Amino acid sequence: MDLRKQINELADMLLKSPRTVVMTGAGISTESGIPDFRGPGGLWSKVDPTEVFHRRVFLTNPRVFYEKGLPHLLDITRAKPNTGHYVIAGLEKAGLISAVVTQNVDGLHQAAGSRRVFELHGHLRTATCLKCRNKTGWEQLMEEIRSGTAMPVCGCGGVYKPDAVFFGDPLPLDYDRAVKEVSESMLTVVVGSSLEVSPANCLPGLCRYVSLINLEPTAADRFVTQVIRSRAGTALSLLWEELKRRGAVGELEAG
Ligand code: NAD
Repeated sequence: MDLRKQINELADMLLKSPRTVVMTGAGISTESGIPDFRGPGGLWSKVDPTEVFHRRVFLTNPRVFYEKGLPHLLDITRAKPNTGHYVIAGLEKAGLISAVVTQNVDGLHQAAGSRRVFELHGHLRTATCLKCRNKTGWEQLMEEIRSGTAMPVCGCGGVYKPDAVFFGDPLPLDYDRAVKEVSESMLTVVVGSSLEVSPANCLPGLCRYVSLINLEPTAADRFVTQVIRSRAGTALSLLWEELKRRGAVGELEAG
């Protein structure tokens, strides 16, 4: 179907829905230069994330993460938001969505101005000592690494682990908050997710209507209300234009 026609339908759904959530995955941030897991240049083509980012491996030998995993996270912390992030932040400011539920750890929604952000897989702003639970900032962690420390250790002797969710980690409280938020919504707009990672991929099923904006087909396509096969930035820019034409939003604030 014609992209503009689909965007008109999405605008209709959005304007009719009493409560809407946007749920994002790695695909929203590829246009900021952060590769997704499975795409070209993605993490899967370099390391096995289920090994390098696994709680069991970290607890037995944290060096595996600091030597093989951390270097892949550095680009994430340097990235800047793109148009898609700004449109999502603008939708919240305009009162058209209540929150963003994200699988990403890059913090780009907050950097674009989104306020209610539920981070299903944690973030890279802080790290926690596994022994005494003391927290340290990401910059301090990096400072230690730059000064030659192979593995950042707390004053108590415990190793610091970034506050991103590793395979085998329990999910943060934000997951329960997101379940509530999506359950209370009429529409979820999923942007840039293969919906392969569980249990995050169960969330859209809690909502009556689901629009899925993604470059490639996903296993969820046949269960959702609408599939828009497009780059996130293109689809979300067109959505903003259409909402502006209808008087629902003003100029997009970006950067
Ligand atoms: P995924 O890699 O499984 O799927 C990403 C999907 O986005 C793919 O289907 C791809 O076709 C699509 N895509 C890529 N670029 C796009 C674009 N410009 N516009 C629209 N769609 C696009 O990602 P996932 O579903 O989020 O699950 C992977 C896990 O890895 C998640 O836990 C995620 O948090 C984590 N991850 C996070 C980051 C980040 O923080 N930016 C980056 C890589 C992986």
